Amino acid sequence: MSYLFNAPQTIIHGAGARHELLSQLARIGARRVFFVTDPFINGTGLVQTLAEPLRQAGLAVAVFSAVQPDPTVQNVLDGLAELNKYEADVVVAVGGGSSIDAAKAIAVMQTNEAPLHQYIGYHKIPNEGLPLIAIPTTAGTGSEATKVTVITDTERNVKMMILDAHLMPTIALVDYELTLSMPQTLTAHVGVDTLTHGIEAYVSQKANLLSDPLALSCINLVSMHLQTAWQEPMNRKAREGMAMAACLGGMAFTNSSVCLVHGMSRPLGAQFHLAHGLSNAILLPVVTRFSVPGAIERYATIARTMGQVVNESDEAACNALLAYLDQQNQLLKIPRLRDCKGIDQLVFEHLLEKMATDALASGSPQNNPIVPTPNE
Ligand code: NAD
Repeated sequence: MSYLFNAPQTIIHGAGARHELLSQLARIGARRVFFVTDPFINGTGLVQTLAEPLRQAGLAVAVFSAVQPDPTVQNVLDGLAELNKYEADVVVAVGGGSSIDAAKAIAVMQTNEAPLHQYIGYHKIPNEGLPLIAIPTTAGTGSEATKVTVITDTERNVKMMILDAHLMPTIALVDYELTLSMPQTLTAHVGVDTLTHGIEAYVSQKANLLSDPLALSCINLVSMHLQTAWQEPMNRKAREGMAMAACLGGMAFTNSSVCLVHGMSRPLGAQFHLAHGLSNAILLPVVTRFSVPGAIERYATIARTMGQVVNESDEAACNALLAYLDQQNQLLKIPRLRDCKGIDQLVFEHLLEKMATDALASGSPQNNPIVPTPNE
């Protein structure tokens, strides 16, 4: 059995990593820079601050700032039209997973003809895209280090997952200072998303010797830093730990896989517009409870990595992990699904069968330690 491993060419991390943008653009010989971001991040002035030294150095700069959370096909097409107008030769994503995912799709659509939905699945994009530099502002998705983009098809209400080495950012500048402004709710949602990446990458049927240490490092960092980052937003050590956890988690799952939590999370996002991190956070404890019997040793190792147990049996370690995940959701104020705004019980029940079908069709649940039936 052989395994493929992908990662960005260059990752620069730590306080001030964002200031390396100009030197990295020079290294790849880029002259016409196309920033992709969302309206909130654009409103903070961050992109203008990043763009100023580039302009002073004689580079041309354009900004596309219309990315919405859970970016849509239309977002990508609008961004692509702007990019072509400016004849950009590099894309720079600044923001959370939504901005980075939109930027990935824009960068590859510049050099590929077919509509996006034809690339759903694994390694179907024929041509390399424009070079992409990712600068994350959330510590969550790890998209800065994954070969994945998730784009919503609003006509079919489906979150399309596209995986291809051509989607891997060329360079990631992981600067935890950009995450200090995250409010508590966002910190909680994206933080549990990161933990989900580590756990799913480690228990996946595609886990391997290169993804395992990345997944366990991610899990360990989350257990050390998430609750502190939530309680003390300006705690730099905790923010740095979570930024690294997110990046490691991204690298882990992109070279292993995600599993049932992500498979079930996508239809919830597509149908009810639940934020990705929130739906993952809601699902993680219950899906873990369902999945533990399929990989008891692996879940026990996770519990030990999180410092929940030392010498106890595997069964006791798994029980400690389940209790920890429940308690953490309570501490971080993650609501239950039935308490989320915008979920009507009747509509939910009506859509349940379609959501189960969509979840299983996405491929991710097939990597789970236990593969569920649609009824389960
Ligand atoms: P996001 O990018 O959707 O951002 C959520 C909100 O947080 C936005 O309003 C944004 O403006 C705001 N925000 C971002 N940074 C902030 C900061 N520093 N301070 C204050 N507010 C800030 O959120 P996300 O969770 O990072 O990304 C979710 C998206 O990523 C989903 O579409 C999901 O499907 C996708 N995703 C992609 C991958 C991948 O590997 N490509 C992995 C997991 C999830």
